[in-house]
Amino acid sequence: SDSGSGDSGEVYTVATEPTFPPFDTTDEDGNIVGFDMDLMNAIAEDQGFSVEFVSYNFDGLIPALQSGNADIVAAGMWASDERKAEVDFSETYFDSGVVLAVADDNNTINSVDDLTSDMKVAYQVGTSSMDVAQQLEEEGKIAEAVGFDKVNDAVQAVNTGAVDALLNDKPVTLEYMNQQPDIIKIVGENVTTESYGIAVQKGNTELLDKINAGLKNVQEDGTFDELLEKWGLA
Ligand code: GLN
Repeated sequence: SDSGSGDSGEVYTVATEPTFPPFDTTDEDGNIVGFDMDLMNAIAEDQGFSVEFVSYNFDGLIPALQSGNADIVAAGMWASDERKAEVDFSETYFDSGVVLAVADDNNTINSVDDLTSDMKVAYQVGTSSMDVAQQLEEEGKIAEAVGFDKVNDAVQAVNTGAVDALLNDKPVTLEYMNQQPDIIKIVGENVTTESYGIAVQKGNTELLDKINAGLKNVQEDGTFDELLEKWGLA
């Protein structure tokens, strides 16, 4: 885990899932880095606390908050109504949505409507893409929704032909396309509309108030926009 930049006060553990670039990823040395980490460090500095980052599978993030193993989740997580029953979210900080991607040389699938009942579609376990993929399977529109813990493994499954398509958040799929050109491409329109929030344990208003105050300050002083630029999200 990495130490944050605050120089006094509490040290909060921030959980993330680091195969979600540019929001949550690792550098060459294996340190957890990304837009979400820079944002948390900026909020921590503004509010006089410190953060350290720990890695979980995506479906382990909310349980980590609930058990008290983590204080904060910063993981490109949709602040959905379903999740609001389990955890509390900050004000949202980024608008996103799930898109379909296929192999770069696939010319038959141009949208979700082109998926057929013999096809397999990859998703990351515990995400909004899982809900979309499992719904398609239940409706018989695809043969199988195939879950992966790591988004890079799901991208690789499209590349090898183990699956026909991938459902994943658009800015992250774009970043994989950027890092590994000519492997996958996005087809069709967004299939969900979502906004990311920072999560804390239900009822932890003391911490949530600090996060919201810090988020507002870093948005107003230009830090937030600089970080969007830095991570190619502007
Ligand atoms: N935004 C999606 C969700 O919240 C996926 C997040 C992720 O994989 N980090 O379900």
